[in-house]
Amino acid sequence: MAEADASPIRLVIHGGAGTITRASLKKEREQAYAQVLEQSLAAGYSVLAAGGGSIDAVIAAIVVMEDSPLFNAGKGAVFSNAGRIELDASIMDGSTRQAGSVAGVTTIRNPIRAAHAVMAQSEHVMLIGSGAETFAVEKSLEIVDPSYFHTPFRWNQLQKAISQHRLLRDHDALPGKPDTAENMDEKHGTVGAVALDRHGNLAAGTSTGGLTNKRFGRVGDSPIIGAGTYADNRSVAVSATGSGEMFIRTCAAFNTAAQVRLLHRSITEAADNTLEEVAAIGGDGGLIVLDAKGNHAMRFNTSGMFRGTIDGDGIAQVKIFG
Ligand code: ASP
Repeated sequence: MAEADASPIRLVIHGGAGTITRASLKKEREQAYAQVLEQSLAAGYSVLAAGGGSIDAVIAAIVVMEDSPLFNAGKGAVFSNAGRIELDASIMDGSTRQAGSVAGVTTIRNPIRAAHAVMAQSEHVMLIGSGAETFAVEKSLEIVDPSYFHTPFRWNQLQKAISQHRLLRDHDALPGKPDTAENMDEKHGTVGAVALDRHGNLAAGTSTGGLTNKRFGRVGDSPIIGAGTYADNRSVAVSATGSGEMFIRTCAAFNTAAQVRLLHRSITEAADNTLEEVAAIGGDGGLIVLDAKGNHAMRFNTSGMFRGTIDGDGIAQVKIFG
């Protein structure tokens, strides 16, 4: 494509949605989050600005958040009831609708890279547990000891959840308490990215540790194509965060894309409509959506969502609160 015909570029990211208010987030924490979100945007932007593909931009942006202990993905992810960190991730290419995902992996440093390897180097879409890990070793992905992912505050969060017999989503306030910093569990979420490259191709990806105190091999929406992640050049790229079970039941990411493609809804209307469906069955959360013209939406029905965007001008915009 000649430079003059090149598509606009854009990257949109999220770092989880939930009860995130000014009262609940201390200033230093807010700045720390903003800094990592900016680094993530810069990493994805450098791929797009150099003419790279949207898939590579999504991976670059997500790897930064997986490597940061602040978010519930990769290092710093939440603990299961058994005291393990079980990671889920998925990625989708909007130009081919090829997709890859992994679930319940415990030793792959960057699950988003493993999801991409499943997409690009296997005939499958989804690999789980030890099989996914064997595949990752074969594909020479970086393997770490499970203790690499551990952080003390996540461990404390698990102890609290176990003592209260609760399954904690990130960003949940303690029951019956106001949303002050003292009453909140540390608020770091699932991460996701959607990108549009110079060739007009969309891609989406999502990575998470899931829910604190999860049991029985629970898997949420994040690694499920059509629930947590979807991309189709004919409509939009979507990454979700929120109550995973409800996002699965509403096929949230595909649902949003289908409304744009088939009902010709605007991306904002489509996202809001999906979030209403999620709310109607008792869930909440957020969606980032990007279309092939570069229009984007960052919608949520919680008090906040870590989020940001950057386009061809290279100026990162980061927001946290509603
Ligand atoms: N959707 C994720 C899950 O259910 C959690 C989150 O986004 O906070 O695993």
